[in-house]
Amino acid sequence: SMKRNGGRGALLFIDIDDFKVVNDELGHDVGDIVLQTVSERLRNSIRSSDTLGRYGGDEFLLIIENIFEFDEVFLVIQKLRDQFSLPVDINGTLLKITFSIGVAMVPDDGHDARSLIDVADKAMYAVKQNGKDGFDFVKKEHSVISNEYFRIQRSTKEALKNQAFEIVYQPQFSIRDGRVTGAEALLRCTDDSIKNLPINKIIKVAEESGVIHDIGQFVLETVSRQLAEWRDISVTPIRISINLSRKEISDARFEAMMRHEIRERKVNPEEIEFEITESTLMDNTQRARNNIESLRSAGFQFSIDDFGTGYSSLSNLKEYNLDKLKIDKSFIDALPADENDQAIVSATISMAKKLGLRVVAEGVETSTQDALLKTLECDEVQGYFYSHPVHPGEMTQMLMARNA
Ligand code: C2E
Ligand code: CA
Ligand code: CA
Repeated sequence: SMKRNGGRGALLFIDIDDFKVVNDELGHDVGDIVLQTVSERLRNSIRSSDTLGRYGGDEFLLIIENIFEFDEVFLVIQKLRDQFSLPVDINGTLLKITFSIGVAMVPDDGHDARSLIDVADKAMYAVKQNGKDGFDFVKKEHSVISNEYFRIQRSTKEALKNQAFEIVYQPQFSIRDGRVTGAEALLRCTDDSIKNLPINKIIKVAEESGVIHDIGQFVLETVSRQLAEWRDISVTPIRISINLSRKEISDARFEAMMRHEIRERKVNPEEIEFEITESTLMDNTQRARNNIESLRSAGFQFSIDDFGTGYSSLSNLKEYNLDKLKIDKSFIDALPADENDQAIVSATISMAKKLGLRVVAEGVETSTQDALLKTLECDEVQGYFYSHPVHPGEMTQMLMARNA
């Protein structure tokens, strides 16, 4: 059935560690109970579209369909290992069960069952030799990345627990008079083990493991609190943009969380704008649509981020009723020298205006870029030429100066 789904997926060769010892020392009856329990717990950790089978004595094959990136396999393996975090109770004897798992990716590592099982078996064997209780891919580069992935994921969870996340603000400016018009909230992690990683890498891992929902909540609460603080000290509020990942905007809990924030912290929806990337918007799930729709009617603004990197059409944009469009940094980089990019930026600005969208240029680093954007009648700018992202205290200073 892999064929039916365009033939992408993964085959996992799962072997119980030290099963022979269990059988030899505790007897075959206990061995049978172990196998039965293992099979039940494995079944509990898979989706209905996955296929699980007994292969040999203590070996199982798991076929996962519709996997496009090999790191999605991590999620499955993780769920599977979670099922076995508690020991198996056999008539009062507690047994901790671990596995060695070899992974073959379809079609990268083979096309037919026979050869896929063979390579996954070899990868599994490598895990046994490396001390068991783990998994390995057929291709070495996948293993390197997967270990990195788990490291980042562990550190991210730790960082959340230790409150090692913070928000910095990058102000946006009106290109005509240079006044601050708003600011983008950007996540930073101060945890030693991952603080040098680019934040979008941490976000990507968080998205895949589901931690993104806790991160999103943290961002939202921090920004709401910040807005309340500014209100308390009577600085004229600016609009803060919050980045939303694909997982967040497609989540059922998201809208409820927003409603909660409005109630609890007296958030004024007009002071918050959500940035969703062009590619997220094009994914176009019904849930995402509904979330955007109802948040917009509650008064929140929406902008389309990284514009130009996806494949949206004019009609798509119109349909969504957005407020703002952010031209991706990659188009600004080669300005003013690159004539193609200049043409693209110019066309984007006039198109956006026809649709009634404000336009922000991202990643403006030089005065010549700034001058050209002014000529092209871009509305707002954000970039190192104006300001790097700054800590909350500095942002407050900037706003107080603006009020004076
Ligand atoms: P983004 O939304 O496109 O954010 C703009 C990025 O460009 C930021 O990187 C910002 O520091 C950087 N930048 C701004 N001006 C310049 C410039 O003039 N030159 C250069 N070279 N860079 C500039 P940052 O903070 O590392 O964020 C990277 C990405 O991580 C963001 O891209 C966004 O996709 C994601 N991200 C950051 N914070 C959050 C968050 O709270 N939630 C979610 N879901 N994603 C976030
Ligand atoms: Ca953004
Ligand atoms: Ca962007």
